[in-house]
Amino acid sequence: MTTHAVQTAAPAPFSADARVVRALEATLRARLKGEVRFDAASRALYATDSSNYRQVPIGVVLPRDTDDIIAAVAACREAGAPVLTRGAGTSLAGQCCNVAVIIDVSRHCHAILGIDTDRRQARIQPGVVLDRLRDEAERVGLTFGPDPATHRWCTLGGMIGNNSCGVHSVMAGKTDDNVNELDILTYDGVRMRVGATPPDMLDRIIGEGGRRGAIYAGLRDLRDRYGDLVRTRFPKIPRRVSGYNLDFLLPENGFHVARALVGSEGTCVTVLEAMVRLVPSPPYRSLLVLGFDDVYLAADAVGTVTAFGPIGLEGIDEVLVRHSRKKNLNAKGLALLPEGQGWLYVEFGADTMAEAESRAQRLMDELRARPGAPSMTLFRDPVETQHVWAVRESALGATSFVPGESKNWEGWEDAAVPPARLGEYLRRLRQLMAEFNYTGSLYGHFGQGCVHTRINFDLKTTGGIAAYRRFVEEAADLVVSMGGSLSGEHGDGQSRAELLPRMFGEELMQAFREFKAIWDPDNKMNPGKLISPYRLDEHLRVQQFRPPAVNTQFAYPVEGSLADATLRCVGVGKCRKTDGGAMCPSFMATHDEQHTTRGRARLLFEMLQGEVITEGFRSEAVKDALDLCLSCKSCKSECPTGVDMAAYKAEFLARYYERRRRPLRSYAFGLINHWGALAEYVPWLANVFTQVPPFSTIVRWALDMAPERRMPAFAPRSFRRTFLGGQTQEARSKKQEGGSSNSGPSRLSPLASRPQSTAPGPKSRRVLLWPDCSNNYFHPEVAHAAAAVLDAAGFQVDIPRERLCCGRPLYDHGMLTAARRRLVEILESLHAEIEAGTPIVGLEPSCVSVFRDELLRFFPDDPLARKLREQTFFLTEFLVKTGTVPDARLEGRAIVHPHCHERASLCLDDDIAVLKKAGLEFTVLDAGCCGMAGAFGFERDHFDVSMQVGERVLLPAVREAASDTFIVTNGFSCREQITQTTGRRVWHIAELLARALPVELTPGARHR
Ligand SMILES: Cc1cc2nc3c(=O)[nH]c(=O)nc-3n(C[C@H](O)[C@H](O)[C@H](O)COP(=O)(O)OP(=O)(O)OC[C@H]3O[C@@H](n4cnc5c(N)ncnc54)[C@H](O)[C@@H]3O)c2cc1C
Ligand code: SF4
Repeated sequence: MTTHAVQTAAPAPFSADARVVRALEATLRARLKGEVRFDAASRALYATDSSNYRQVPIGVVLPRDTDDIIAAVAACREAGAPVLTRGAGTSLAGQCCNVAVIIDVSRHCHAILGIDTDRRQARIQPGVVLDRLRDEAERVGLTFGPDPATHRWCTLGGMIGNNSCGVHSVMAGKTDDNVNELDILTYDGVRMRVGATPPDMLDRIIGEGGRRGAIYAGLRDLRDRYGDLVRTRFPKIPRRVSGYNLDFLLPENGFHVARALVGSEGTCVTVLEAMVRLVPSPPYRSLLVLGFDDVYLAADAVGTVTAFGPIGLEGIDEVLVRHSRKKNLNAKGLALLPEGQGWLYVEFGADTMAEAESRAQRLMDELRARPGAPSMTLFRDPVETQHVWAVRESALGATSFVPGESKNWEGWEDAAVPPARLGEYLRRLRQLMAEFNYTGSLYGHFGQGCVHTRINFDLKTTGGIAAYRRFVEEAADLVVSMGGSLSGEHGDGQSRAELLPRMFGEELMQAFREFKAIWDPDNKMNPGKLISPYRLDEHLRVQQFRPPAVNTQFAYPVEGSLADATLRCVGVGKCRKTDGGAMCPSFMATHDEQHTTRGRARLLFEMLQGEVITEGFRSEAVKDALDLCLSCKSCKSECPTGVDMAAYKAEFLARYYERRRRPLRSYAFGLINHWGALAEYVPWLANVFTQVPPFSTIVRWALDMAPERRMPAFAPRSFRRTFLGGQTQEARSKKQEGGSSNSGPSRLSPLASRPQSTAPGPKSRRVLLWPDCSNNYFHPEVAHAAAAVLDAAGFQVDIPRERLCCGRPLYDHGMLTAARRRLVEILESLHAEIEAGTPIVGLEPSCVSVFRDELLRFFPDDPLARKLREQTFFLTEFLVKTGTVPDARLEGRAIVHPHCHERASLCLDDDIAVLKKAGLEFTVLDAGCCGMAGAFGFERDHFDVSMQVGERVLLPAVREAASDTFIVTNGFSCREQITQTTGRRVWHIAELLARALPVELTPGARHR
């Protein structure tokens, strides 16, 4: 028998003399090509994963390649420092945070090294994102089967670490079933390729001796001593994820060392490369959704449904649906669900759509023939199917931070039982939750008996934490009594590791300890997780959090407070996706965790925690992390928990600059309304300073602007001057005609002098057109066009008499006192209009979004502010809401680039509806942010990122568009980015509509 140093108790977290850590950092820097980050901000950034736990790492390493990973492990070994390899950090059980050197392989080690179509396998580096591999494999009709909900950003290394599963594990098994070979590295520096080991090969390897031979001998010995116990004690269910995979060492499973290591959560080896199995991907899929009277009945039907061979079988309950409604999430998908209070999603796959649908039909026929048949909808439209899937896929986010509900957390979120007993488990689990006064939605991979929930544990108080412990212990006993697994998907980490003896018994626990010791006798690989663990109720992030009281400029009515806002990020990691959507443009450009919404939220949390980042709001590290946030607000709408980083950034900057001078450019860009007001009288002079060298060169140098950028030129005459001039002229002519300018509502459109108005009848409905700084001073043709469109739609158009500004540019610079003042001025000046219910119509999405968002952050309880918010609209939104979209006919093609704030705070559907009605053929780009984002892209230090963001999708799409294609965008920044980099003419939607009207616009309005 081989003996190994076996650790039974949790280790004391690594503590080393600062000199040792400094020396380790220096060694890593000397030996690695990649980044080595031991600064406070980087350590803070990686202090937690998606779990409840927080442990500050020793430092972070971003290896460039495999040699770097090997060198990093060697340096750690020499210093005796523990190691934790990490992918996207979306682990939910605490296995991805530790007092260790974190080796983040996601940034650079993400190559797909080859796809072997004949053998149906792919060789990959561990940092490859699952969907990248799936996209490549789909080209040859193959796929990687297990697909966690995080498939757009989780890494293969992390999936191997956690033994991840997903909807299609019904079809293709867990990750362990899909790993053929691993190229691994032990802490003591042995690199080897492991996989299935036929008996003769096993004998040969052991005979060769050395460390490799000793490892194999240890594994064989372990198998021989514990094999029978493994056979009898391991639950025979599809989703046993807890514990080490000792069953793969059994001869009947091919002594598969690679698969035995899957699910070892970084506690045994570092995976350098993997050869993974690919399976045929059914080209056609149908989705049948069944609605039952409750989720238990849905679970009871799993056996019947499974017999029909679905490739995916998921379940959701009424709590998830209720919470999604409360958060106004996935409204379209919710509306499509068949009647019920518990639902099964049944997906069938086939080579033809007819076959996929006929499989669903057969199941429907069978169910209809039974008493108590569920309601059923078979989805044929791919868009509808996508909407319905979104309800299930966003479950974790949808059930987190629900207004009016207590906060809920992971901790008992992925147990699995035999699918045949799922209904019974759900009933008993709910009963247990009720005994503890806990609530939570129940949903998950019902076809494999795996159930997710987030529960409103109190993880703050001693009593609450004690109750949490009692609950998970009882829940564990319940699952074990039903022949289940404590983890059916997310792994053991720290949440479940302590409970494993209840499931496996002491003898198998000893086998697990020995398995760990064979690979990592010094316990340096992710110590204290999965085996010989830390307690499940220590290192709790929420318990540790004692933020100071902070006087904030904004109110946090949804979050509670700024401190609560920093807790809102639960680590889902959606801001790490790079394949579409808008969040988060800076991460899409840099691929660096510090530039994710999550990273920023964490740094703000750590700033308030004050343990690693100790300078509070003066912290340069936090400022640096926020620096590349473009304040696009994409996170506000795309992040499942609604992290509103643009607001938190503005709040931070306001505090950071207290009693500090801001850069000159903050005053130049932030106070653009003042400069515009001056330039309105002498635009030519202003343009000398911004357009004519050497004056413009000096101005740009003083403002630290990128030399590649042009300052926008002031228009010869602002919209406001023309408009009010038109009004005066009209009043004068009315007087000459003997009319009175005071009789009835004055008609204020500059188009008064047009030959004829297109609008029918008298203008009874009055609107205020908002002359935002960009359209007023720089692009008045847009505002004129909008006035024409509103006029044609039958409205009497007016503008505010005073020169008002919403203050949008101030937010980007954290000038919140001034921004608040602007809004007070608006509320005072427009008091009567607001009270009278006059609609305010805006043209610049970022300005309209001030009235939607920031206004209520300043004045959450002010009825006038609420009223103003309710009656402010974007142009197309207003036209659609009032049913006045003009009958404009447009011919040709267009590509539409939505401004980020339009996606986040307004309604993009209205633009689409208006363009559709006009008959234009168009494509809406999924380009995310344009990269200009106010002043951001003009600034020298942001220029490169600005261009990377723009060049991702938007700018290439514009360049590829035919010369007669309209490029449509409503944002000033987007327009500048496009025109300055491609030279293409850009259209605001108001201009397009006006172009189709049978009227002459104000001179110069049609082209500039
Ligand atoms: C909203 C949400 C939904 C989720 N849904 C699912 C789901 O449907 N199914 C599912 O299975 N999981 C799910 N998860 C959990 C998680 O996303 C998956 O386990 C995912 O595969 C982890 O990938 P990652 O890249 O984030 O790994 P990480 O969290 O970075 O790492 C996971 C583990 O693998 C280890 N590891 C990483 N790289 C290596 C390496 N190169 N060598 C050795 N060890 C390594 C780490 O040390 C860690 O222990 C969900 C999580 C969230 C937040
Ligand atoms: S506002 Fe935009 S850039 Fe800033 S964190 Fe959110 S998604 Fe990223």
